[in-house]
Amino acid sequence: SIYLDYQATTPLDPRVFTVMQPYFTRVFGNPASRGHDYGREAAEAVNGAREAVARMIGGSPLGLVFTSGATEANNLALKGLFEQHRDRARHFVSCRTEHPAVLDVLAHLVERGAEVTWLEPDRSGHIDPDELRRAIRPDTLAVSLMYANNETGVVHDVAAIGAITRDAGVFFHCDATQAAGKLPLDVGETGIDLLTFSGHKIYGPKGIGALYAGRSRPRVRLVSQMHGGGHERGFRSGTLNVPAIVGLAAALDLAENEREREAALLKKQREALLHRLRAADVAFQINGDPVAGLPGCLNLRFVGVDGAALQQAVPRLAFSRGSACSSAVPTPSKVLLAMGLGAIEAGESLRLSLGRFTSDAEVETAAELLIEAVCRLRDAPDHAAT
Ligand code: PLP
Repeated sequence: SIYLDYQATTPLDPRVFTVMQPYFTRVFGNPASRGHDYGREAAEAVNGAREAVARMIGGSPLGLVFTSGATEANNLALKGLFEQHRDRARHFVSCRTEHPAVLDVLAHLVERGAEVTWLEPDRSGHIDPDELRRAIRPDTLAVSLMYANNETGVVHDVAAIGAITRDAGVFFHCDATQAAGKLPLDVGETGIDLLTFSGHKIYGPKGIGALYAGRSRPRVRLVSQMHGGGHERGFRSGTLNVPAIVGLAAALDLAENEREREAALLKKQREALLHRLRAADVAFQINGDPVAGLPGCLNLRFVGVDGAALQQAVPRLAFSRGSACSSAVPTPSKVLLAMGLGAIEAGESLRLSLGRFTSDAEVETAAELLIEAVCRLRDAPDHAAT
């Protein structure tokens, strides 16, 4: 089968695996055991990874907290901020196109007294900077807006958001899980105060991610969400996952080195796929912004063809119809609904995401299979019922 679900997760790059291997067996020490070489060697590996990751995102190693993934990093960022500052400010600004790892945390905080203003995205998934400016109030604590969307690949103008939040003196939390390693990322240049990302979206291991909570004004202070031995400067207790931390740094390094070349290739493949679909004249629409969006991501709606039926009709293609985290529940994508699509339109949509190991031949075959299945489903006698 053909894997077209790189935004759900990616395979571990064999080069990353090679870098990680010694840390499962030979260098097994606990980095907190500073009293002997086993521990010191592990601690050195973690320090090296921390410095490398910080350098790549334009931040200081002191601001980096390793977590179990972006979900945990988002929890720590938003709950940590709220618990620290709730007496002074408890209002957030966000958008309903965010990942559940932000939406559900904000919903949890609302039950504890937070307020959220939801920005209205337009039909292409973009937000209006003026609306953001107007939404910020004297009691606003933070703006939480992602860098690139996991379902549509829509990219927010993080530099503009950073400038607005900086002027207003509120924190900017940015979930960059889909953007890290794929788009330029510099916390200083963009004014991001709290940045989150994950290993398994960038050909690194699963179960590792990071929160960067940098130097900003006002200074970011957080309440820890995981108490114990005081690891990660007290922000996240628990013995460090050394192989995964080393793997995260190696994966980000590779992605950064290959970012521009890979983006150009993915854009070409995406164009080729679109070209084939257009030539076949299968009526379809693109959800989001196909030009400025995340390279390799394509959210498509085949008009009149149910997405679930299409998925069943092409078992050789591995793709998603929404975020992997919510597609266990068969409801239309919240992201697409927020962008103004109706439930039926959203139900006719699917996400194809290409990645590092996608070949041109796979793209060609995927296009053929989709065209064939769409035509077949449209011709089916019970089609009118779908
Ligand atoms: N945020 C975004 C935008 C994502 O795409 C994902 C992916 O599932 C997450 C957060 C959650 O990341 P993790 O799987 O590392 O918890």
